[in-house]
Amino acid sequence: MKKILSLLSLVMLFAVSSAQDVDERTLLKAMHSISSHDLLDYVVEQCDEKYEGRLTGTPGYQMCAEWLAGEFAAWGLTPGGDEGSWFQWFDIPYTLIYPDCGLSLHMPLKEGSTVMKHYRYISEYMPGSTSGNGSVTGEVVYAGYGITAPELGYDDYAKIDVKGKIILIESEAPVSPADGPEKFNPWFEHSFHQSKLANAVSHGAIGMIYNYGPIANPNNAYDENFVYVHVGDSVVKDIFAGTGLNHETIVGEIKTTLKPRSFNTKKVVTVRMSTQHFADGRGSNVIGLIPGSDPELGKEAIIIGAHLDHLGKCYEIIPGANDNASAVAVMMGVARALAENKIQLKRTVVFLSFGAEEQGIMGAKAYLDNPVMPLERSILLNMDGVGIGHSIRAAAGLDYPVPWSFIEEANNKYIHRPLSANHFPNLGRPRLDAAKFLSAGVPSVSFSTYGSANYYHVPLDNLEIIKPEIMEDLAQLLFVSVVNMANSPSPLR
Ligand SMILES: [Zn+2]
Repeated sequence: MKKILSLLSLVMLFAVSSAQDVDERTLLKAMHSISSHDLLDYVVEQCDEKYEGRLTGTPGYQMCAEWLAGEFAAWGLTPGGDEGSWFQWFDIPYTLIYPDCGLSLHMPLKEGSTVMKHYRYISEYMPGSTSGNGSVTGEVVYAGYGITAPELGYDDYAKIDVKGKIILIESEAPVSPADGPEKFNPWFEHSFHQSKLANAVSHGAIGMIYNYGPIANPNNAYDENFVYVHVGDSVVKDIFAGTGLNHETIVGEIKTTLKPRSFNTKKVVTVRMSTQHFADGRGSNVIGLIPGSDPELGKEAIIIGAHLDHLGKCYEIIPGANDNASAVAVMMGVARALAENKIQLKRTVVFLSFGAEEQGIMGAKAYLDNPVMPLERSILLNMDGVGIGHSIRAAAGLDYPVPWSFIEEANNKYIHRPLSANHFPNLGRPRLDAAKFLSAGVPSVSFSTYGSANYYHVPLDNLEIIKPEIMEDLAQLLFVSVVNMANSPSPLR
């Protein structure tokens, strides 16, 4: 009888202790199991040449997705993808950029002959990441923002003929999201790269010089008969040279008057692109989860999100060490510490690696169309670019005071990093997975780090700029915050 009693009390003791929140010693021990060495290893792995820059749709991307799924499996996570797998599949066309690309200006000499000025790859131009293939030569027509909007009484193409010519256009629209939704919303659809490209093609242009800065960006449409490059100031300056017009003045006038200032620059350029398009690409999100232990709270989800993809080759590999191998590494650090230390979590924690963020946030769309956990019972903690600098910024932190309070508390108690939050600047032009989730009504806070050199969408976003210590701190910060959020008796949203 005594034996049975003590057995019973032992069982009861277990029942009580497993119902308690995670004690401080267990929490800290697990938190300190997150090491910058592991996190850096994860970044190094993702930047490996065999993954070819992780462009969604390519075999290189999928190989990297399989590596991540293998790690999730090794740590004992539960697969959250299609039909019990780790992968949530979606269609994603993609384009490969080969080395033989170029942009050259034909400079006339007095005797009627010309010399060619060849622009420098990366510092002056970047191949268009979804450009058609081939070489075109033609006059350059400046076409403002490349927008035709009859409903707004605005048409950059109204007084010019671009048939068989190459256009030079600005990104965005003459009205910006910062001017407020009322002013910007009518321009929203027109501000997309895809709309501008389609408009150029429909007006008969054969090529485009896009004043977007010399950076790679695969978030655009593909037209096999249309080639384009991204350029910076030096090219724009050359195109305007000798026209008697100043580029900055012209752009300023378009913005203030909302009247086009298009004109034929009479400059001649050659755009040479070497590309191959794959219309039937397939890509995937990678999803692993730790089911919540509580029958009721377990139906709620804390999603930790980070996009796994980057830009592929353009035409060199763009490693994307900060954008976004750093964030996937931090997510992995949190997942591993939670799973291997068997930390009790009443709510479900979902680890969601998005594909195709760089190709128009298509992975986030695929998840929202087919969520693993109900969206109305989910919150998202997203990360994009968290491997540089010394300070942490949380976009939309101030919009969601409940999740934010857990993050601030964990930072004040254990991490002590400069940490700031803001209200989400605008949803007018979603460019983050988190923005897509916010538009779908899912409370989302998105982390980035800053305070040292960053190289956005160029090959210099490589291992040398990575700061392992900020990744370790953010991973430990998220780890503690997630444990406390997952076990909190009060609602998170
Ligand atoms: Zn990113």
